[in-house]
Amino acid sequence: MRGYGMLGIGKTGWIEKEIPRCGPLDAIVKPIAIAPCTSDIHTVYEGAIGERTNLILGHEGVGEVVEVGNLVRDFKKGDKVIVSAITPDWNSVQAQAGYGMHSGKVLGGWKFSNEKDGLFSEFFHVNDADGNLALLPEGMDPATATMLCDMVPTGLHGSELAHVQYGDTVCVIGIGPVGLMGVRGAVLRGAGRLFAVGSRPNCVNIAKEFGATDIINYRDGNILDQVLAKTNGAGVDRVIIAGGNVDTFDEAVRMLKPGGAIGNVNYLGSGDYIKIPRVEWGVGMGHKMINGGLMPGGRLRTEKLAALITAGRIDPSKLITHRFEGFDKIEEALMLMKDKPKDLIKPVVTIKW
Ligand code: NDP
Ligand code: ZN
Repeated sequence: MRGYGMLGIGKTGWIEKEIPRCGPLDAIVKPIAIAPCTSDIHTVYEGAIGERTNLILGHEGVGEVVEVGNLVRDFKKGDKVIVSAITPDWNSVQAQAGYGMHSGKVLGGWKFSNEKDGLFSEFFHVNDADGNLALLPEGMDPATATMLCDMVPTGLHGSELAHVQYGDTVCVIGIGPVGLMGVRGAVLRGAGRLFAVGSRPNCVNIAKEFGATDIINYRDGNILDQVLAKTNGAGVDRVIIAGGNVDTFDEAVRMLKPGGAIGNVNYLGSGDYIKIPRVEWGVGMGHKMINGGLMPGGRLRTEKLAALITAGRIDPSKLITHRFEGFDKIEEALMLMKDKPKDLIKPVVTIKW
């Protein structure tokens, strides 16, 4: 079979591989809609998780089941399924503790395009199929459903990690597709005033549509000064980080009120340490919580987030700015993600076999 992947740090290309084998609890799936992710870019071009050779990329996709193992109960050949980007081993002790995304080890639930071949392939393998697949709801556009693999769960997790409460003043740093879902998640959890930090005009427009009350352009000066100016020096209750770099935490801690929380979902591709300002962190006693988390994966989570689309509470189709047809278009879509033209939010490739 053919797949598009990472040949080594800084290099991508088409790769020939054997079709993966299906274990008793697993499924083999053929993609019908796939999306590249900023994470693929960190992995290839920043070498953020180290060297990988001939690894098929991709972890966001909807597909058709072509085979299931003999112990799989709820899925069968021909089912159209949403595949979570994070596929925990559900019988691990970490999953029992509520952290399936870290099954086996930290980030252990992140298998596709990290530890095993991903979805930019004619066929791909899904572990624990009953726990990690979700049926594509009747009538849902497969391209829209690809946003349920990673963008929706990650962005919404940012608002969970920041513990957004009714009436909170929230700052969302970074409004690419992940941050935009962070905005929507914070609004659904009851945010009051909401600052969205970004510069691309179509992201700014969607941030407003999703419920941001104020836009801050980080290119016009530092974010902290702009937030403090708009809040009469009071700062914010919650910060969701979905963009920036290791230095972003410095500003986030400074703008946070005591008792507040930072929820980071940004994949920090470079830099060895995160700097926390000692005095503004209350010399270690400021009750300013810093949380960072990989999205929770799996079937139940995917089904619940799909219900938010069906009920009209979120509309992630607004994130899709570029649509391609045909397996071979994966390369073009991934390069768009690398070059990030101004009008891009998220590309999706649909495939008819
Ligand atoms: P994008 O690159 O599309 O968006 C990044 C956003 O951050 C943009 O709004 C950009 O602004 C803004 N930004 C860039 N530099 C700065 C800066 N110095 N200060 C403040 N804001 C800045 O990324 P995605 O939305 O696709 O992904 C966001 C992050 O989430 C990535 O690191 C990705 O790898 C990660 N991720 C994490 C997952 C998890 O489970 N935790 C899963 C999936 C993704 P501008 O408008 O100018 O472009
Ligand atoms: Zn992703």
